[in-house]
Amino acid sequence: MNGFTALGVHPHIAKRLTELGIEQPTPIQEQTLPYLLEKGGDFIGMAQTGTGKTAAYGLPLLQRCNHKQRQVQCLVLAPTRELVQQIAKMLFKFTKYYQPIYTVGVYGGPSLDKQIAALKKPTQIVVATPGRLIDLIERKQIDLSFLKYLVLDEADEMLKLGFKDDLDYILTAANTRIQKWLFSATMPRDIEALVKKHLYHQAKKVIISQKSVLNTDIKHEYIPCKTNEKLNVLIQFLNKQKDKRAIIFCKTKKATELLNKQLIAKGFPSQAIQGDMTQIDRDKVMRAFKNKTLRLLISTDVSARGIDVDNLAFVLHYEMPDQIDYYTHRAGRTARGGRKGASIALVDEKELRFLKNLSKSLNFELNETVI
Ligand code: AMP
Repeated sequence: MNGFTALGVHPHIAKRLTELGIEQPTPIQEQTLPYLLEKGGDFIGMAQTGTGKTAAYGLPLLQRCNHKQRQVQCLVLAPTRELVQQIAKMLFKFTKYYQPIYTVGVYGGPSLDKQIAALKKPTQIVVATPGRLIDLIERKQIDLSFLKYLVLDEADEMLKLGFKDDLDYILTAANTRIQKWLFSATMPRDIEALVKKHLYHQAKKVIISQKSVLNTDIKHEYIPCKTNEKLNVLIQFLNKQKDKRAIIFCKTKKATELLNKQLIAKGFPSQAIQGDMTQIDRDKVMRAFKNKTLRLLISTDVSARGIDVDNLAFVLHYEMPDQIDYYTHRAGRTARGGRKGASIALVDEKELRFLKNLSKSLNFELNETVI
């Protein structure tokens, strides 16, 4: 099941998220979604780009919109044209199986007339750069009298770009009963002043630590292949690795056992470790792996918890996990004690989408590798 439904995300949106490879909520999503979906109210989220904050506020906006009402109910302000386009695109993508909710992006540069024409059609969400929005307000080309939610995305960047007066103007003009959700990577004084002036003094605050959860000595790579070609690709890959030691991960006990048998049949020195084994058998396998008489350990996620083996050249994801923290645990088995290591994934199309999203949300560099 997609991990978003438990947080209150509509099943039709969750279905789409699964399709996009977004299955497990990131920390900001976990802490923000239940609040914004159910309770609501002024909100401050401290999180950087790449943490998944767009969905953290975007999904609640979509679910809180009334698609039968033609007027603009949500306004998202963002610092740059690129970000505006990216947010508008993401919101549009999420609605594939949901109600028809229309988002229009407005930003400086392209013809104003086109954007004005787009706003004349039913539009529930507007994503805008502050300057262009004010232009539209002054020309009386946008009606914000039905506005219920105002999001400031990357508020610190907007202030850095000199939009302070514009934001003040928009926030002052907005109806006091609307909910204001502010996202910022940092909280400098000018943001604090803006919060104090325009947001409820007991606004809910969520802070996501900026510490990277992944060791930077780990190199992240992937090998794209079809599901039914994985075994052959793995064998080719392992043949080139000489006697390097590694853990190969599968999602289930059954897959772990099967892969182990297949590798042994091809002459590889491997052993499986999974939850059904007795402690004595597990210890035996672990001893062999630690003293290097065993080269390949095939494991499920649960069995790998706590395995602390030095000098592992790489971990290999034969099947990608469904959960983000499983990936970080797996990858964290390598590059221990200041050494370098690699996390290599054999991925089909869907797994590759998940991995690419993961690399953005956990902020690690991901490269394709050729065997
Ligand atoms: P953002 O921080 O909103 O700019 O999101 C950064 C990237 O992470 C986007 O490409 C999203 O599609 C992706 N993303 C957002 N949430 C998740 C998630 N829960 N799992 C995997 N990828 C995600």
